[in-house]
Amino acid sequence: MKSVTVSMTPAGRYYASILCECDIPEPQYEGQTIGCDLGLKDFLVTSEGEHVAAPQYLRQSERRLRRMQRHFSRCKRGSRGREAARLVVAREHEHVSNQRSDFLHKLSRRLVDENQAICAESLNVKGMMANHCLAKSIGDAGWGEFLRQLEYKGAWYGCHLWQVDRFFPSSKRCHDCGHILQDLRLSQRSWACPECGVVHDRDENAARNISTFCTVGTTGTDTPGESPVTDSRNPEAPHLQAGVVHRQMGYDLDDSFALGITALREVLGAAA
Ligand SMILES: [Zn+2]
Repeated sequence: MKSVTVSMTPAGRYYASILCECDIPEPQYEGQTIGCDLGLKDFLVTSEGEHVAAPQYLRQSERRLRRMQRHFSRCKRGSRGREAARLVVAREHEHVSNQRSDFLHKLSRRLVDENQAICAESLNVKGMMANHCLAKSIGDAGWGEFLRQLEYKGAWYGCHLWQVDRFFPSSKRCHDCGHILQDLRLSQRSWACPECGVVHDRDENAARNISTFCTVGTTGTDTPGESPVTDSRNPEAPHLQAGVVHRQMGYDLDDSFALGITALREVLGAAA
């Protein structure tokens, strides 16, 4: 065991984060390669046609949060009632963030387990957050965190994450014939290709394009250097060092719980 860090959240809960070093089994790259289109209404649409609805946890708690916030701001500064009201608000925020985290961890783990490679668009989340009409939904969606999880879980359990440049016209390109639309409004959820006549679900078509381009870009059938794909496998990344993995547990406890506990037992057993 390397270190233990105890932290307290604004809601007054304590967490112990235990850092230990352990060997993890060689990752197995099995399953298929899928493309993912990340969105607001559907959190994720895969090239296999699976739609995962966006849970919108913040929106669900919004009215309750507003009421709590109002109560808090009416309390007298420095009073005991104010501290209690602050805790109530902080707990609700923590609840939302826990719900979101649970959703993202379960989904990313399932995708990593089922597939050997996942292709997604690289996101400029910060740039999109600047659009204040969408900022709340985007923040609520948690795309950046989701991609981060896919990347590190992929390295642990055997799944590559490939990201396509976000300027790649994944939505506007017909997957069947390659025709690229001049214009496609965000509100248009499906469209018919003027070239070949195939009717596309907007997000499924995008996911299929992403998948195709990633596959082409990595098997070398395309002109090298022209692929819009970047491979997330970075040999410099500490969690990818062969054999030894720094696994953070406790506050970051996720669905690798069982593995983590086993590792912890080993470490504690070795120390005893
Ligand atoms: Zn077409």
